[in-house]
Amino acid sequence: MEELGHYINGKRIAGASGRLGDVYNPATGEVERKVALASTAEVDAAVAAAAKAQPAWAATNPQRRGRVIMKFVQLLERDMDKLAVALSREHGKTLPDARGDVQRGLEVMEYCIGAPQMLKGEFTDNAGPGIDMYSMRQPLGVVAGISPFNFPAMIPMWEFGPAIASGNAMVLKPSERDPSVPLMLAELFSEAGLPDGILQVVNGDKEAVDALLDNETIQAVGFVGSTPIAQYIYSRATANGKRAQCFGGAKNHMIIMPDADMDQAADALVGAGFGAAGERCMAISVAVPVGEETADKLIEKLVPRIEKLKVAPYTAGDDVDYGPVITAAAKEKILGLIESGVKQGAKLVVDNRDFTLQGYENGYFVGPHLFDNVTPDMDIYKEEIFGPVLSTVRAESYDEAVDLVMKNQYGNGTAIFTRDGDAARDFASRINVGMVGINVPIPVPLAYHTFGGWKKSGFGDLNQDGPDGFRFYTRTKTVTSRWPSGLKEGGEFHFKAMD
Ligand code: NAD
Repeated sequence: MEELGHYINGKRIAGASGRLGDVYNPATGEVERKVALASTAEVDAAVAAAAKAQPAWAATNPQRRGRVIMKFVQLLERDMDKLAVALSREHGKTLPDARGDVQRGLEVMEYCIGAPQMLKGEFTDNAGPGIDMYSMRQPLGVVAGISPFNFPAMIPMWEFGPAIASGNAMVLKPSERDPSVPLMLAELFSEAGLPDGILQVVNGDKEAVDALLDNETIQAVGFVGSTPIAQYIYSRATANGKRAQCFGGAKNHMIIMPDADMDQAADALVGAGFGAAGERCMAISVAVPVGEETADKLIEKLVPRIEKLKVAPYTAGDDVDYGPVITAAAKEKILGLIESGVKQGAKLVVDNRDFTLQGYENGYFVGPHLFDNVTPDMDIYKEEIFGPVLSTVRAESYDEAVDLVMKNQYGNGTAIFTRDGDAARDFASRINVGMVGINVPIPVPLAYHTFGGWKKSGFGDLNQDGPDGFRFYTRTKTVTSRWPSGLKEGGEFHFKAMD
């Protein structure tokens, strides 16, 4: 059986800890390969080698670094199909979704080609007589990226793109559930000309993560995953004096106003609720129709659409709507929450609890489910389900709907469907959520904006991507300089006056 190791100093190496994890094909439930789980010593060695390589990369001029990234983008395009198949095989998402995963990461890399623009700093001429003042952005050194299973191409690139473009070296610890694609990305980056040691990929579990959090050389940690782990990583990294940005889970609401185009809203909800089996941090998991009539109309439109969804492995063709969830444990958790919803009194309008797929009985497929009459005290409302389950919470008024979103512990994404400009504008301005869609169900910002949630969806004060990505992976140094000729012009006096 294939055994995946690590990617260190420009090549794949086998793991040395003797510990291995199983990598499943979620469509069949079979273990298809093994992945090495790194020991603390292996992580520390990867970090030490990155620290050796980093100064030369930082000293390479930024446009030259940009050219390596440009070449990497070309190689991603060349290998798009290969990457998508490797991704679907381990994650289970459809091929178009897998291509989207690579594409969204690629767009961040494209943005990073412009690193010279982002890093050029500020300058004040004549801050005092003969005195100039300038600020520059310098890389932090060696940084760590820790990523989740649900976007094994895009999220590692969100993390290593701006980090490496800024002149850092990154040690990436991808999800142990689908480790093939991050290793392939590192190989392609080497082929593009990235010097050895600048992108190290260390596979592993909690032991590897803790080793990164405690390693003194690591200056910053970028994390994306579930909220409890985000909180844990944020506290441990910052307690160890590191910079940290940790993005967590979500419970994204979509408000449907009575004046919304109901067909459009229903189509949007089906795509945003069930696409990628609901395993997206920007998935809509709660529909909030305003008014009983709106709710009845919406349910009527949703049911036939949901019943038509094709749930199958990615190999069954491009018309598959979504595939299996990631693990047996994830499937069990989702089905358990569905049971709890029924027990706690929600109305299960589309019920696929007995869903099985012929020939794939051991796969982790979960049929689509729609709940109506969900209330905020129910577990299906409170917990992030991360599966193909859409809950409907009926609100009597716009204010009640907004209040629901405001009070939710998560604040990643939200949307409103309406034709009323006033309501839309009020919503965008008032809501305490990081990313807002107006008649757009999954408002993922493009690479040159920033991505990040509020409340328990994000810890740390800078977002990912866009200008914030560069701010997070650099620090500012400000130099004040005076040359002797400045003194001749009465610089002494002015210099004192400036203090
Ligand atoms: P996860 O938190 O289980 O794992 C994320 C990473 O943390 C993995 O690399 C994993 O190995 C590591 N990890 C897991 N348990 C750990 C522990 N106890 N100690 C140290 N490290 C540990 O998340 P997941 O299941 O891979 O991904 C799904 C979650 O990620 C969902 O909650 C989803 O909402 C969230 N997510 C958030 C965003 C965002 O931008 N906010 C984006 C994608 C996914």
